[in-house]
Amino acid sequence: MNLLMMMLRAPRPSRISDMPAVAMPRWIRRGYDGLTFFGHIITHTRQEADAFNRGTSEGHGASFTMKNHEMIHLYQARATHDSWLCFYWKYFIFWLKACRYRKHLRNAGYLLNPFELEAYVHMREPDYLARHPEGCTGWKTYASMPLSDRLVLAMNALNLHTELTRQDSVQHDTHKGSQCQP
Ligand SMILES: [Zn+2]
Repeated sequence: MNLLMMMLRAPRPSRISDMPAVAMPRWIRRGYDGLTFFGHIITHTRQEADAFNRGTSEGHGASFTMKNHEMIHLYQARATHDSWLCFYWKYFIFWLKACRYRKHLRNAGYLLNPFELEAYVHMREPDYLARHPEGCTGWKTYASMPLSDRLVLAMNALNLHTELTRQDSVQHDTHKGSQCQP
């Protein structure tokens, strides 16, 4: 299935209970493990897709954490009027606003994005989704925080101190060294 068909055929977020991972290396930036795209998780390789798909049943470990991160984005989309378009629009606006902090953190548009902060802070909690069946809304709290506070949160959640010192763009895995978009 190509990206356009994924978009056109995507059910509303609330009608999706699981997101299959598929390898589509042309559509994901290097340095990121996965990309939630209208109910699918896009990865670089088949092996990475398999790791995401295993994450469903394992319930622990890196695969679960990676999968849980993406599933939190699905649940966030449920909380944005149950609309993928609304979710991505908000994501883009948050990204633009957070880019103002690029002088402090090169990847600020991504790492200080309220949707990402919620996913990173809670992706290791096995019951996080079950506690929010109507949708994850933690991003609203982060959205109301100044970027300086979000930077502190991101540093703690992602252990960014080393990367900040190196002025690196944090191409390390959130879930053990890489990142997911969104
Ligand atoms: Zn993410």
